[in-house]
Amino acid sequence: MTTDELLRFDRAHVWHPYTSTINPLPVFPVERAEGVTIYLKDGRRLIDGMSSWWAAVHGYNHPVLNAAAEQQLRKMSHVMFGGLTHEPAVELAAKLLPILPPSMEHIFFADSGSVAVEVAMKMAIQYWQACGKPAKHAFATIRSGYHGDTWHAMSVCDPVTGMHGLFAGSLPAQYFLPQPPVHFREAWDESAIEPLRDLLEQEGSHIAALILEPIVQGAGGMYFYSPHYLTRARELCDRYGVLLIFDEIATGFGRTGKLFAWEWAGVEPDIMCIGKALTGGYLTLSATATSAPVASTICGGEAGCFMHGPTFMGNPLACAIASASVTLLLESDWQARVRRIEAQLERELAPAAGLESVREVRVLGAIGVVEMKEPVDMARLQQRFVEEGIWVRPFGRLVYLMPPFIIKPEELSFLTSKLLKILSE
Ligand SMILES: *Cc1c(COP(=O)(O)O)cnc(C)c1O
Repeated sequence: MTTDELLRFDRAHVWHPYTSTINPLPVFPVERAEGVTIYLKDGRRLIDGMSSWWAAVHGYNHPVLNAAAEQQLRKMSHVMFGGLTHEPAVELAAKLLPILPPSMEHIFFADSGSVAVEVAMKMAIQYWQACGKPAKHAFATIRSGYHGDTWHAMSVCDPVTGMHGLFAGSLPAQYFLPQPPVHFREAWDESAIEPLRDLLEQEGSHIAALILEPIVQGAGGMYFYSPHYLTRARELCDRYGVLLIFDEIATGFGRTGKLFAWEWAGVEPDIMCIGKALTGGYLTLSATATSAPVASTICGGEAGCFMHGPTFMGNPLACAIASASVTLLLESDWQARVRRIEAQLERELAPAAGLESVREVRVLGAIGVVEMKEPVDMARLQQRFVEEGIWVRPFGRLVYLMPPFIIKPEELSFLTSKLLKILSE
């Protein structure tokens, strides 16, 4: 297939994320990727600023992850998890539990982040059913969140930037709180928690769980908020009998400067979701972890078990790669790398704050965000980024970088300088 044929067929028949079949935005054919470089079929090279949506923390085509995949392939790439078990899944669980919040004891492997969120929400519902409180079946969350594209995950995404308008009437209605107004590095203001206190006081008897992305809201707004919010949220959830779910699918595995973002506040959730960087960006895999009391309550209920079991649950190939990826991360100097990326992003993105079109620049860990005053012209910007040799995918008013942790200072400077150049045009 020539590149022209490929592009023609793609345009005619292959759906891409959030795109039209009638008027699709251009796509760029990729030949291969290695380290922080994406090689296009036409010979151009792009320095990756996205880690393929938070996932490829070690960069692409990593020899250690390749070896783990090849080794596992020779044994089996998949076998059903019902009634069978295997080393890759058990080893991965044994590696994950010590790095998750101490109260997490049981781990459920699922196929994608959205499914992990569905699983977490189903756990919360089954928990309250088993407690004899079936009226507790709604969810509370904060605005500007993102939890995935499946049905109930979508119902807790931001009601404006999410897809509520489109699916209104068929989506379950959830409780939305204002985005925590106190920014990450700002002094805490006790009034910031009042909306949550009021909600739980009035509606707590209908609410199964509060679901949050701790510290960093990702695709819903790339916003960083105060750890004190989590501390207070934990206290209120305990007081009003509401479970707390942390969605760490984006924030997990070092991205915010802590291995997991809950560590910024030191408060533990009842249920936690991880995904994205779990396999170092190789395959789709997610996990939902919970505490012994939650798991045993669920399983002591009417159903006698947790009612979920995906076909590809605990996929050995994905688990083997995830295991290698977690070890690779823990054995690397990831903290120093993330700190170095953070300092460099702060330094090199700061001048963007002076641009007429820019509202704010913010950096936390290996995440750098340039928030524009107006939504960007995505098609034009994407074209310009590629022309200049960088891979950055903005959405709405947000242009942001979250490079692989292995990026070298000169590669990151290339990214930031090209970004600034294009944004000032
Ligand atoms: C990406 C993301 C999801 C959904 O994960 P998928 O693998 O795309 O289904 C859920 N929650 C958060 C916080 C995410 O960033």
